[in-house]
Amino acid sequence: MVKDFAETEVARYGRQLIMPEIGRKGQDRLSRCRVLIGGVGGLGSILAYQMAACGVGSLRIVDRDCVEMSNLNRQLIHTTADIDRPKVLSAEEKLRALNPHCRIEAVQAEIHVGSAARFADGCDLLLDGTDNLAARKALNRAAVQAGIPFIYGGVEGFGGMLSSFIPGEGPCLECLFPMEDRPSGRTIGVLGAVPGVIGSLQSIEAVKILLGLDGILKERLLIFDGRNLSFREIKVKRNPACAVCGGCSNH
Ligand SMILES: [Zn+2]
Repeated sequence: MVKDFAETEVARYGRQLIMPEIGRKGQDRLSRCRVLIGGVGGLGSILAYQMAACGVGSLRIVDRDCVEMSNLNRQLIHTTADIDRPKVLSAEEKLRALNPHCRIEAVQAEIHVGSAARFADGCDLLLDGTDNLAARKALNRAAVQAGIPFIYGGVEGFGGMLSSFIPGEGPCLECLFPMEDRPSGRTIGVLGAVPGVIGSLQSIEAVKILLGLDGILKERLLIFDGRNLSFREIKVKRNPACAVCGGCSNH
């Protein structure tokens, strides 16, 4: 049975309720979903805001860091007053203010191979807002093992990329990046608006996946170049020898 939305929710989600692809049924579905936001930095700020704003019922936000001054050119969920506060608490406060109907679970912790499965537990979708390959790979592994879709995003300078990985349908992130994570120690430059673009595209994918809509960015890596405002796509194939998804019987 479709949820009986409160009057304030009908008003809040009005522009989505009149969309044929969403409507009451889709909005109801979103309200019953739990989404993991892995990292509330540049990408995660956008992901968290968009998921809370569109009516996803539960968000689990995980990040180990505190807000720094140098984050503020792109991590829009945090403000100058939040400097030195844990990012998850800063984010939780903004999300509650934005949408009191959204349940927020804030976890200050590091995402790694030993913790990712725990954070993924009970989620319908994992969103990548992390800033390193090791954490992304840990989320990907947890997603494959639990059969949960995972949306990867990455940014650098004027550009970025994203892809959606659906367990049992095409490759996983490990098929795409089988190399070891070798942190270079260098700080990458990022124009603040770029995670805005990539995080928003991930958010559109998230809604489509949660609602079971067509046109998912699977088996495709979408690459954005802000220097000339262009997009291109690379086909991504599953690696039968992949260390993470290679042995799955559902392929
Ligand atoms: Zn794989």
